[in-house]
Amino acid sequence: MMREEIVFGPIHSRRLGSSLGINLLPEKGKLCNFDCIYCECGWNKDGRGDKAIPDAKKLRKALEAKLKDCVKNSVGIDSITFSGDGEPTLNPDFPEIISITIELRDRYFPSAKVSVLSNATRVGKPEVFEALKKVDNPILKLDAPTDELVRKINQPHGDYHVADVVESLRKFDGDFVLQTMFLRSPDFDSSSSEVLDGWMAIVRDLKPREVMVYTLDREAPAEGLEKFTVEEMESLTRPLIEEGVNIQIRG
Ligand code: SF4
Repeated sequence: MMREEIVFGPIHSRRLGSSLGINLLPEKGKLCNFDCIYCECGWNKDGRGDKAIPDAKKLRKALEAKLKDCVKNSVGIDSITFSGDGEPTLNPDFPEIISITIELRDRYFPSAKVSVLSNATRVGKPEVFEALKKVDNPILKLDAPTDELVRKINQPHGDYHVADVVESLRKFDGDFVLQTMFLRSPDFDSSSSEVLDGWMAIVRDLKPREVMVYTLDREAPAEGLEKFTVEEMESLTRPLIEEGVNIQIRG
């Protein structure tokens, strides 16, 4: 789904309540250093060629206008979530944008929670790590336990090593949310032992405060993808649930 505004919503979600979304990526395109086979925004190559991304100044203006408008119209805000069309930490102003968002949140809706959905490729950068540490919910993706499997499901651009990402995630000391997509494709199966066992070992090692397991929801760009049922995902993650890991499953 492509977003053409920097700040969109609020929309009502069962999980997040009244939620504002922030898209730090091009207004008419996708910008990501992954090209996941399940990406709701489609393949990177099919983007609409728009490379203009909002800077901190533009974000401040758009977010403050929206928050003021919500106050004026007595619309509550429970959460502010960075999602949008691609990877938000690729925006060069990401650290400054997080500071501005927290400042405006504190001023207008101090009880709202700030969440960032990220593919975790840039957590090794100190400024990105520091910014993610400041938000209430850094929600960080890890779909597969080896570089070879990540190539099949996430198709990263450039240098990507699961071991490096795991080392960077370790610095959160468990204070983050791990997000993992479960799906079957012709050459990737989240329920196979090569994926599941390695992934569970990483969860046990990093001990995230929450693990969000989800499956396909909307149209995916690749052919032949199959989703899992909630029951299947529950049964696959049962060993971790029994060990006391906080697993949230979304079908
Ligand atoms: S990380 Fe997110 S935005 Fe990037 S390709 Fe994957 S699903 Fe799409």
